[in-house]
Amino acid sequence: MSGKPKRSPFLIPLERVPEGGIEVLMSETDPEFAELLAEASDGDVVPAVGSVRLFLERWPGRLDIEGTISVTVPQICSRGLDPYGQPIEATFRQILLQTKIFGGDEGDEIELGRDDLDRSELVGDSVNLIQVVREELHLAVPPKPLCVTPCEGPCPSWERNLDLTEERTRKGADPRWAALAELKLKK
Ligand SMILES: [Zn+2]
Repeated sequence: MSGKPKRSPFLIPLERVPEGGIEVLMSETDPEFAELLAEASDGDVVPAVGSVRLFLERWPGRLDIEGTISVTVPQICSRGLDPYGQPIEATFRQILLQTKIFGGDEGDEIELGRDDLDRSELVGDSVNLIQVVREELHLAVPPKPLCVTPCEGPCPSWERNLDLTEERTRKGADPRWAALAELKLKK
């Protein structure tokens, strides 16, 4: 391995998008997508897995991207603080406008009203799908993850942990803690 970094399979030159569109698939076996999953993960209680299906369609001066995210990433329950696997199913549509018409008269004429339509600038002659998916995945991860809906906290898995704690208590305190308590008393 030496020399130039390998060109990303997800950096798509616009000229490669055929009439009628093209489908691109990302899965956790693609190192770049695996990295995105790791970014979206909190902890490693379950493996971050899944895929994103993209459909690219080219129009004069713009590129439309439709995507379906279907992944599971480890998260920490915001209520009970237990780690768990969060399934994420989301669809998105992005419209990328080429810079030469972005902000110009032609660009202004494109009317977009629906909230799920995302319009941004397409710089250069290729599209970085990793960037697109990073943004969308970030939006799709719940800001306040919950292990179950509704999790009232503690998480259901706490019961199991509490049992273990009680067992430890019954068996008597850890001698190391006892030693620490003694030290504190001597102070
Ligand atoms: Zn929970």
